Amino acid sequence: MKTAVYPGSFDPITLGHLDIIQRSSRIFDKLIIAVVKNHSKKPLFSINERVNMIKKCVTDLPNVKVDHFEGLLVNYASLLGAQVIVKGLRAVSDFEYEFQMALLNRKMQPEIETMFMMTNHKYSYLSSSMVKEIAGLGGCIRDLVPDIILGDIKNKFHEKQGENK
Ligand code: ADP
Repeated sequence: MKTAVYPGSFDPITLGHLDIIQRSSRIFDKLIIAVVKNHSKKPLFSINERVNMIKKCVTDLPNVKVDHFEGLLVNYASLLGAQVIVKGLRAVSDFEYEFQMALLNRKMQPEIETMFMMTNHKYSYLSSSMVKEIAGLGGCIRDLVPDIILGDIKNKFHEKQGENK
């Protein structure tokens, strides 16, 4: 059985992420979406909120599971028995960082392979940070994130506005 892990911040999940999830779920027997608890980034959504939003978006994909982890990705992946790490690649700007990470991960765990999936051209410009920036300024994020989480994002910004009053 081929198991793959798709790691990321998913703060929040976008249509670009979902496209990578749908395409890789057709390649692997099992795909685990792993939300990273990253102390160096200050996320807008909590780990549980991010996990729950992703869960809502993948109900039609029975071989996809959602989890979260802290620490080294390769340790987490080998604990799960995953053979592959899936990464999405957008522009050239993603390449250098991802190239370095893939080589370091291979040095730590040579039996785990990193596979890159090219972004869908429709979403090549899309990132979670852009979604947050647009939503925070009151712009429309329909067509950028799955419809089912539009309400969660709106609520989060209402909550934030309340806190700032
Ligand atoms: P970001 O905060 O930059 O959107 P994440 O850490 O949540 O990124 O991304 C998780 C993974 O998904 C990374 O491998 C990233 O390259 C990939 N990814 C993010 N957005 C897209 C997109 N629009 N198309 C393809 N891959 C993407």
